[in-house]
Amino acid sequence: MCGNCLLQETAFICPMECPKGMRNGPCGGVTPEKNCYIDETRKCIWYCIYKRAEKLGRQEMLLEVLPPLDWDKVGTETWGEVLGQIRKAGTISFFKNIVSRDKEKKSRAWDSVFKTIRQPDWWQGDSDYHAPGYQEPVSELERRLRNGEFVVATEVTPPLNANTEKLAKNIELVKPYVTAINFTDSSSARPRMSSIVCCKVAHDHIVDPVLQIAARDTTRIGLQADIIGVNELGIFNVLCITGDSGKVGPSPMSSMNLLDIDSIQMLWLLRRMRDEGIYLDGRKMKNPPKLFLGAATSPFASDPALQAIRDHKKVNAGAQFFQTNLVFEADRLDLWLEQLDKRNILDKVYILIGIAPLKSYKVAEYLHTKVPGVNLPDNILRRMEKAGEDAPEEGTQIALELIESIKNKKGVNGIHLMSLGWEEVVRRIVTDSGLLPK
Ligand code: SF4
Repeated sequence: MCGNCLLQETAFICPMECPKGMRNGPCGGVTPEKNCYIDETRKCIWYCIYKRAEKLGRQEMLLEVLPPLDWDKVGTETWGEVLGQIRKAGTISFFKNIVSRDKEKKSRAWDSVFKTIRQPDWWQGDSDYHAPGYQEPVSELERRLRNGEFVVATEVTPPLNANTEKLAKNIELVKPYVTAINFTDSSSARPRMSSIVCCKVAHDHIVDPVLQIAARDTTRIGLQADIIGVNELGIFNVLCITGDSGKVGPSPMSSMNLLDIDSIQMLWLLRRMRDEGIYLDGRKMKNPPKLFLGAATSPFASDPALQAIRDHKKVNAGAQFFQTNLVFEADRLDLWLEQLDKRNILDKVYILIGIAPLKSYKVAEYLHTKVPGVNLPDNILRRMEKAGEDAPEEGTQIALELIESIKNKKGVNGIHLMSLGWEEVVRRIVTDSGLLPK
């Protein structure tokens, strides 16, 4: 009843069972048991789709970038349209070809009916890689990554009030040690100062900002409207994320989950705005925005092989850099990197690994038990527990050890240092790990 049926592409399981309405693969929130983090009593529907697609040999079909809902059709069924398309294709030849042993014929017949339905003219998604359509780097972050430098990006937490004094102070505190600063978009579904405003403040302080846009709070109209203006504010790096579910935020917003546009659709739309100079409705624009597009990934959210399908899709849609969820197991990271390598995408995307210095055992425990996609191994939890008052020093040492063990891995281009409000530690970590920007 979404009126935009995609069942043929999703191993015949309806993705609308996902509480967020994700239409292009799982969010980063699958629990270790592969259940949905919003409703832990049931399996993540996208995990089921991936597993069934694997059994049916249809996994590569999951790479096609599927459109956002056509809201005019929501609440209607798709059968009328399917029958209309079959008649158009020729009923007898359609059924003859669909049962044919010739795989080519079969797939052409299938697509003649279903592709027109699932890929309307205003979207035209596909499963191909589209290299960026510009030559010169648009931001300092892109310039350094292209130069082959091992970069450090960090996060400064947006304020909870209308005063930017502390924000500016924290920007100045980390500025000498990093290439770019991210500003989260109401993380944990708790409203904070907007990422766009924080990016503008950072730009005024001569720092390359990374704008984060959470699909959770975005509509296709609002997204395009914001993006055509961001270059004017000195913003060129844009990280498209799904955003934490309202369920983890304060009441009564727990069911504000249905997305108008998901993070992969955001990448597809923004890449086309930049490279083809078009709005979603097909209108041409004179001066398209310049954008270095990024995406978040969660290497340990589900099986690395399944996670890699979603990451591959993000790269095809337009992601030029990844910032990963927090990593505490350097060896396990290899499994994910190997899967990306198998998919031949390590040379198409820059990867910045998420590292967090742990300030206390409480923080470690919280991340391990409450943050979807984050897993702390026993030895790290024990070290933090034992450290007692020395926990901040122990957490810093753990971060330094992790950086040391990941910095030479194939496909790793830098780190994304998430200080979790502990901005003072950035200087120490960057200096002691020998990663000061040149
Ligand atoms: S874990 Fe995420 S993708 Fe999976 S069903 Fe839940 S909300 Fe949807």
